[in-house]
Amino acid sequence: MPSRPFDADCIFCKIVSGTIPSACVYEDADVYAFLDINPISRGHALVVPRGHYPTLLDLPAGEGEALLSALRRVAGALMAECGCGGFNCISNNFGVAGQVVPHFHWHIVPRVDGDGLSAWPGGKYKDNAGMGQLAKSIKERAAFDCGGSI
Ligand code: AMP
Ligand code: ZN
Repeated sequence: MPSRPFDADCIFCKIVSGTIPSACVYEDADVYAFLDINPISRGHALVVPRGHYPTLLDLPAGEGEALLSALRRVAGALMAECGCGGFNCISNNFGVAGQVVPHFHWHIVPRVDGDGLSAWPGGKYKDNAGMGQLAKSIKERAAFDCGGSI
């Protein structure tokens, strides 16, 4: 197997390689998961590919399946252990979206009723025509072949 990208200055590369300690909750040949040091809620975990890929856009397609499988397994383990009724999976990509560590990762945030963690505000498009026009522009620019209209 070709060697994976590694960034000696990246804190998650250091965690995955064991250079700095972590509260590991899961690992396999492709993925490493550990508890977030500043948890949003009890059991907040991070699931990361072993390779250093800065954002989702850099992640090779072949890495996705292992990551999704690990995400499901860790989320299930958190549901069992932490007494939570559900969880949020969040991935911040690029600084403007709040990404601080540029090594792609999923946050799994266990949720319980009344935990006070607020939901994101829901906005509104001015009208369906504007929403439809935006969808059309997105898929035309990316040359995505898909249907659907509003
Ligand atoms: P993000 O803002 O999506 O890049 O999230 C990075 C996350 O990494 C934050 O929630 C931090 O609390 C977490 N973090 C940073 N350093 C460590 C560490 N050494 N061990 C565990 N979690 C960490
Ligand atoms: Zn890294």
